[in-house]
Amino acid sequence: MKIILMGGPGAGKGTQASPLIERFSIPHISTGDMFRAAIKNGTELGLKAKSFMDAGGLVPDEVTIGIVAERLAMPDCKAGFLLDGFPRTLAQGDALGQILDGLGMKLDGVINIEVDEAVLIPRLTGRRVCRKCGASYHMIFNKPEKEGVCGQCGGELYQRSDDTIETAKNRLNVYNQQTEPLIAFYEKQGLLKRINGDQTIDLVLADILKALD
Ligand code: ADP
Ligand code: AMP
Repeated sequence: MKIILMGGPGAGKGTQASPLIERFSIPHISTGDMFRAAIKNGTELGLKAKSFMDAGGLVPDEVTIGIVAERLAMPDCKAGFLLDGFPRTLAQGDALGQILDGLGMKLDGVINIEVDEAVLIPRLTGRRVCRKCGASYHMIFNKPEKEGVCGQCGGELYQRSDDTIETAKNRLNVYNQQTEPLIAFYEKQGLLKRINGDQTIDLVLADILKALD
């Protein structure tokens, strides 16, 4: 299964990615996670990405496309993959098409998790993420059983530095201007599957699985 998960910041991409990658036994390719790991490890990639991420902007296309091209060429992607947070610009969408052509691969579907803007901001500001496994929780909508502790691996939960109200608003603007046009791009290719993301996590997953059937 070769799929893209799209949706605004906070739409629930990371949350849905976990059960999907388990079900289809495919790698989870999250450009956001790759950049955060690079920043944590102090690599050159991290240095390049940090200022853009801190401001809620996008990391330049040439940097982002390069890391995805490398990742998709790895053997574990042969049988499938789930892209989360990539592509985010039309240039990235075009580049992805070329990368997949070069690898002789075709997408099975593009899932667009649709949620109203008014719902996205509180989802972002209340988000807590596991430092160890990256699982996503919410202070109100998806509480961990034990406060501050990941229910999956026992890791410590933290708040992402870009989940402040100001940065969240900026990320939404960037999404509307640069990422939203990809919806029409994939609709034209007959790949787009629209999913109502404003329902419980389980119901969103059920709708995604139905759409991929
Ligand atoms: P994204 O990866 O799209 O930025 P996340 O999966 O991290 O978004 O979800 C953002 C926040 O919203 C998290 O705190 C998560 O627990 C919460 N969340 C995800 N899906 C739902 C849902 N269907 N209903 C309520 N809260 C949700
Ligand atoms: P995410 O974890 O998907 O919410 O991404 C966090 C941040 O990483 C974004 O706000 C961007 O700054 C950066 N980022 C992630 N994916 C991309 C991408 N495909 N293109 C450019 N920047 C990205």
